[in-house]
Amino acid sequence: MLTPATPVSSLPDVGPRRAERLSKLGIRTVLDLLYTLPFRYEDRRGVPSIGNLREGEQQGFLATVSSIRKKEIRKLRAPVIEAILSDDSGSIKAVWFGQEYILKLLPEAAHAFFFGRIEYSEFDRSLVLKSPVFEKVDPGQKGRKSFHVNRIVPVYRESLGLTSSFFRKLIGETLLSLWGSPFDPLPESIRKKHGFDSWIKMIVGLHFPAAIPSGGSLEFFLDPSYGPRKRLIYEEFFLLEFLMFQKRADISAQGRSNRYRISAEDRTIFSASLPFHLTNAQKKVMEEVSEDLGKDYPMNRLLLGDVGSGKTVIAAWALYLAIKSGFQCALMAPTEILAKQHEKTLTRLFSSIGLTPFLLTNSVRGSDRKAIVSGVHSGEISLIVGTQSLIQESLNFSCLGLVVIDEQHRFGVDQRRTLMGKGAQPDTLLMTATPIPRSLALSYYGDMDLSVLDEKPPGRLPVKTIISRSSGDFWDKTVRPFLERGEQVFVVCPLIEESEAVDAKAASSHWEFLSSYFPSFEVGLLTGRIPFESREKVMARFRSGEILMLVSTTVIEVGVDIPNATVMVVESPERFGLAQLHQLRGRVGRGALPGFFYLLPGEAASDEAIARLHVLEESDDGFFVAEEDLRSRGPGEFLGTRQSGAPAFICADLLRDFDMLKSVRVDVKDFFQEGEAQRMDHQKWVWDWTTVTDFIRSRYTGVEEWIGIR
Ligand code: ADP
Ligand code: MG
Repeated sequence: MLTPATPVSSLPDVGPRRAERLSKLGIRTVLDLLYTLPFRYEDRRGVPSIGNLREGEQQGFLATVSSIRKKEIRKLRAPVIEAILSDDSGSIKAVWFGQEYILKLLPEAAHAFFFGRIEYSEFDRSLVLKSPVFEKVDPGQKGRKSFHVNRIVPVYRESLGLTSSFFRKLIGETLLSLWGSPFDPLPESIRKKHGFDSWIKMIVGLHFPAAIPSGGSLEFFLDPSYGPRKRLIYEEFFLLEFLMFQKRADISAQGRSNRYRISAEDRTIFSASLPFHLTNAQKKVMEEVSEDLGKDYPMNRLLLGDVGSGKTVIAAWALYLAIKSGFQCALMAPTEILAKQHEKTLTRLFSSIGLTPFLLTNSVRGSDRKAIVSGVHSGEISLIVGTQSLIQESLNFSCLGLVVIDEQHRFGVDQRRTLMGKGAQPDTLLMTATPIPRSLALSYYGDMDLSVLDEKPPGRLPVKTIISRSSGDFWDKTVRPFLERGEQVFVVCPLIEESEAVDAKAASSHWEFLSSYFPSFEVGLLTGRIPFESREKVMARFRSGEILMLVSTTVIEVGVDIPNATVMVVESPERFGLAQLHQLRGRVGRGALPGFFYLLPGEAASDEAIARLHVLEESDDGFFVAEEDLRSRGPGEFLGTRQSGAPAFICADLLRDFDMLKSVRVDVKDFFQEGEAQRMDHQKWVWDWTTVTDFIRSRYTGVEEWIGIR
């Protein structure tokens, strides 16, 4: 019996060669095949016979090739192919110009569906069909069982020699054998709630839609509001969310006794140790974190917060609670500069409480390193801050209870998992300043709890963003006055080495230029190529104000906090994503003086690219910028290669269907809350759950990877 899990290779019509080609297109099972959707439809209803074709119209009809031949016409360079097409009612001449291969495709007696313009020819004194497109049809298929005519037909993308009509017939036959199948990835309660048809009806509706509603066109079937498509979008979100919620359920099922002792006093002590008042957003998120820590399963929380929103305090709060309860904690950051900064901040914050963080990076060597590794091992060190060095094999903890990862998107799933693996069910707090649009965050981190710091600490002046296209005196007129007042300037270049292929200025040659342009000011250079010690020195000199202008690549992108830096100039900003630029912008205006963010597009920058940059002029809300970035570039490019394994939906669109996604999440949550028994019951509603999960996993490549934060 045919099931959704049946391999396509065992379908009639699919021999080894076709099976291999289908497999190359990712089509291995009947499910894969049925989710290969047409990209458009053709109305082939009421197909006329040759006897009632009308002049001047595009028409399609079914006919047999009575004869076909090549005619050389001297005036024309290319040969003309002429065929006589016949049916019971008569015959008509069809001509093609210069398409000799048609002789091979349409031998005499071939039966095909032809579609093209019918014209009256003076020369022939009759109607002719000019350069029609055609599709061969099996002779016996004129009647009710035909997939190719007398109906609205699907048109599939042709690839690797697999034609649209091949797909149509294969899918059509498969559907006939599957008709009445109880298979359905959506539970009945959900179907009832939304009035969705059964799965098989949806699939049929997607491939072989019935009547067009009056006044509508074929486009109707491609619209997300078309019933079967709407169900499919829902289904895609549902399955994905289902997997994520299941993951979460697994985590909570890990069960762990509540091990933190949190008191009201803690809050008072912690807040009192801060040099500022917490924002409401910070208070809210601190509450979310301590609530998590009070649960009897591990925390798994993602903190989204724009640059400067004060995420470090949240990290400190979680660390404080965990350490106070006798656990070791690790804070990992992607760069040495950032790790060092965190160590400093935490040292300052925790000094009144008597806690000392230790730093572990690549540049901690020799006996210092040994002492730290053994301190972590024995449990003497309760707070370790560092870079990837923290995940090296030789570092073992005695009781790691909490892992905090800053700029978490900079790390791979494996790296995050390795660090977490050094403890027994540790709590985790992941932080990111990359403003991820909520739509993406919901679907990408659906297995995590989300906290958002959507309020900036008070007193910060907005950074003014200016796109400057006038070159020439920019440095003299615009930048020099800042330097003369002693304000510090970042200059960011997109590439390190001069490259002819791109019009980006290399940081080092730009540095040479600016050093000689401003001989009386100290200009520093910071790139990833410079050895770490020298980089540290440069940073220290910039921080102390000795260096006034810092030319760099994006190594300064994350975290760096220099209150006296008021200006940032970005060369060739069109080469960056908006979200990344927004993050860079967060490096300035962190002190008492207003900040300025100058964008100097390259000469080759397109108008479109520059229009995109205006979003930054308009808004300093990271989430808004990210939404716009996503809108203009699409999820694939927005996320870049780092997040490969991102789901590729068949029909759903995160932006367009965001409201649907939200309601699906509510449904799935309810579904899970109905209890274990209900959930176990899902095995029944999908007649073959393994097939469905295999299918989702294979389609959303690497879904395990990006769902499997743990
Ligand atoms: P980010 O979210 O970018 O990591 P940080 O935690 O580095 O932000 O905070 C940015 C700056 O704002 C730091 O200098 C920090 O001391 C300061 N800060 C954080 N919270 C507050 C607050 N509630 N009031 C005033 N300043 C704050
Ligand atoms: Mg930070």
